[in-house]
Amino acid sequence: MFDALHPIKPDLISHEEYLKFAVALNYTKPNDAPPARCPVCMRQMKVRAGKKKADGHFYHDDSLFCPTKDPAKRPYLNLAPRLPNEAAVRANRLFTENNIEQIYSRVKAITSYLDFKEFIEILEEAKRLNVYGYANLIPDYLPYIFVTLINFLPSKSFKKSRQLKFCFFYEDKIRTYDELWINKGFSSNLIRVSYNNVTTQKVKIIETSTDYLTETPVTLSPAQKDWCYKVM
Ligand SMILES: [Zn+2]
Repeated sequence: MFDALHPIKPDLISHEEYLKFAVALNYTKPNDAPPARCPVCMRQMKVRAGKKKADGHFYHDDSLFCPTKDPAKRPYLNLAPRLPNEAAVRANRLFTENNIEQIYSRVKAITSYLDFKEFIEILEEAKRLNVYGYANLIPDYLPYIFVTLINFLPSKSFKKSRQLKFCFFYEDKIRTYDELWINKGFSSNLIRVSYNNVTTQKVKIIETSTDYLTETPVTLSPAQKDWCYKVM
């Protein structure tokens, strides 16, 4: 991947910035400097120079499991809540209906070239897994659950304009969706990884704020809204 977590700070660092970091600490070889970390599994990563200047990247130099290597094995995928509370399910679904344009806008903002049909696919998956029924779920954070429910493929993007496949991850400590709200608020970084086939490319930490609820959303047509409500 082209970026990784800084060795000490909670921010992403590019390959080039990491080389400068190693030089500033007087290391002759970058792989001897304190290592950058994988933003998902937090393990140390090595650096490798690229063929071209901009190709330098971070990589795992072991065969241990990291979800970024195998996105289908993200532990929380396909997990329905164990003890859904029916009143909470109704309230969370109602929240989604009432804020459908805001939620759509937030998902669209963090997923370049989102096609409306991808959003429909997300709502169908949310219904199938009953994601509205997780213990302690704070509905304001639903967009950040929704984006983990499907993989965003170039072929299904708006006018097929997306160049890379996107998958969303929580930090490796998160094993179930319930664990996201143990101490109120959102307890994990949400990370978007872009893939070129199976090779990890870009990494982005997604801000899990709830400001989107007070921003002016993209307008959905009455027919689009009806389609959403029908599949929910
Ligand atoms: Zn990793």
